[in-house]
Amino acid sequence: MVPAHGVMMAKFDATHSYYRATAHDAPSHFPLEGEVTVDVAVLGAGYTGLSAALELAEAGYSVAVVEAETVGFGASGRNGGQICTGFNKSMAQIGRMIGEEYVQTAWEIGDGASKLVKDRVEKYGIDCDLKWGYLHAAERKSQMSDLHEMQEEFAKFGYTETELLVGGDVKQRIGSDRYVGALWEGRAGHLHPLNFCLGLAKAASAAGVKIFERSRATKLNTGDRPAIHTAKGVVRAKHMILAGNAYLRETEPYLYRRIMPVGSYIIATEPLSESEAQAILPQDDAVANCNFIVDYYRLSADRRMLFGGRATYSGIEPKDLGSFVSPRMLRVFPRLKGVQIDHVWGGHIGITVDRLPHLGRIGKNTYFAQGYAGHGLALSNMCGKILADTLRGQAEKFDVMTRFKHPVFPGGRFRTPLLTLGMFWYRLRDALA
Ligand SMILES: Cc1cc2nc3c(=O)[nH]c(=O)nc-3n(C[C@H](O)[C@H](O)[C@H](O)COP(=O)(O)OP(=O)(O)OC[C@H]3O[C@@H](n4cnc5c(N)ncnc54)[C@H](O)[C@@H]3O)c2cc1C
Repeated sequence: MVPAHGVMMAKFDATHSYYRATAHDAPSHFPLEGEVTVDVAVLGAGYTGLSAALELAEAGYSVAVVEAETVGFGASGRNGGQICTGFNKSMAQIGRMIGEEYVQTAWEIGDGASKLVKDRVEKYGIDCDLKWGYLHAAERKSQMSDLHEMQEEFAKFGYTETELLVGGDVKQRIGSDRYVGALWEGRAGHLHPLNFCLGLAKAASAAGVKIFERSRATKLNTGDRPAIHTAKGVVRAKHMILAGNAYLRETEPYLYRRIMPVGSYIIATEPLSESEAQAILPQDDAVANCNFIVDYYRLSADRRMLFGGRATYSGIEPKDLGSFVSPRMLRVFPRLKGVQIDHVWGGHIGITVDRLPHLGRIGKNTYFAQGYAGHGLALSNMCGKILADTLRGQAEKFDVMTRFKHPVFPGGRFRTPLLTLGMFWYRLRDALA
């Protein structure tokens, strides 16, 4: 451990996160060997893939999930654990993009996503520290009008478990001088993301899903007879679901051109004392600020501060990730100066050009969902279910989600430098506003 920016640092490791260190025991699944034939082949054992697999298996389909590493290896096992409501855009913006007549269904998808998480935790008895309560925190007065609009929009759709907090009231909920106000929501919250993912995998296995770990898909057949090929085997199916999201990369070029992997990083402090935790987040809410480059944080079940923020668009990992994130935590909570950082990790968020999920079909029999833009804990569960429902002949929600147009990222092979430049502008805007 070396001190940096007033905190003691743990060595960075992308996968040995706080979540891995506190994961429940889970069975390993054998790699794919030889040929397997099922109704539906799913690539990726994150929330999207497991959600679809679980729904389909419960509906009587035979399903195999092919995972390059282990269950929850991708964003689903590393994220901030924040269960957000809806989409990255307001319903008014969504209405302009897909047509007013589809807005009610879009709302039901976004709002239903967190309810789906809740229902699954209850139904399958998933032990994942689920808590409700979420704050959108405003650093500037100009952001308060956005929060006010958000609250009014939520109310229009019947969601009234919200509270607008100003001045001193926000300090009762977040022990920081940084904020001028906040919007509290009761239907959003937080959980232990990896334990939730492992719980989904357990439920899927119990429903009959075959999960193959350490089985990287090297070639996909997206034609009439879908197949996932790995180094040692192949899964052939009537239908295929691609749920590799930001980790799939060039394996499927059509999807890769429409998604950009963005690095996001989290630190976990040592456990705080009960009084320190009370002073920081007395109601144990999850918090995200309203800036373009978002700070997101919450307490873990054992009272560690899990603080996420900053982003990399270049594909290059910063050398000292702890020092990359910790100044942001100290800006919000100077009282945490000197606290030890026990874990530092990161992962890839899949973003689309318009920051909305990308669902669709390739050929006749291959479906996909990706690009939740950092808003995917609940939404990916819902979108996996939407893909499963579509295969079962209920495509109403799929038809609405596929109304979003998803252009390719401009710049071809120069798209990463272009995005880095664009994001620099947003960072500057956050800093100067
Ligand atoms: C650091 C971080 C913080 C985040 N915080 C939040 C948050 O607080 N709230 C929120 O709502 N969202 C958050 N997100 C986003 C959220 O985690 C994702 O939207 C969600 O987990 C996406 O799930 P997924 O199943 O689509 O993808 P993933 O979980 O990434 O799963 C894809 C899986 O596919 C596998 N795969 C890829 N290629 C292949 C291949 N060729 N062969 C076989 N398998 C393959 C991968 O190994 C991986 O396991 C965060 C993401 C990150 C990285």
